[in-house]
Amino acid sequence: MPKLTKKEEKRFKELKKEFLKWQHLLQVDGYRVYIRVKKLKDGFADIESNEYTRVANLDISKEDLFDAEMKSTMKHEALHLFFHHLEALARWRYASPDQIDIEVERLVTILEKLL
Ligand SMILES: [Zn+2]
Repeated sequence: MPKLTKKEEKRFKELKKEFLKWQHLLQVDGYRVYIRVKKLKDGFADIESNEYTRVANLDISKEDLFDAEMKSTMKHEALHLFFHHLEALARWRYASPDQIDIEVERLVTILEKLL
């Protein structure tokens, strides 16, 4: 993780807390999530989860750390975790991963606005 200023460190802790809140509320506490600030090519954050190890990596964009949308993004990423198991199951069953990606993104966005 890049070295953070005190202000960035404080923001990081705040965002981490927000993510953990939603992880708990969405009952996906079973995943061990490693959260870090990173330079991302695009997007505010990115989460990658492994269904077998139940380990997830959440990367938060350093450039967008203070963006007003970032708190909502933490909820968004927790929702991806929420759907991860379903997504894994679907991937084993269907031929087109693209269709599943689009559907999951649609559901996540609906819930993000709703909750
Ligand atoms: Zn998304």
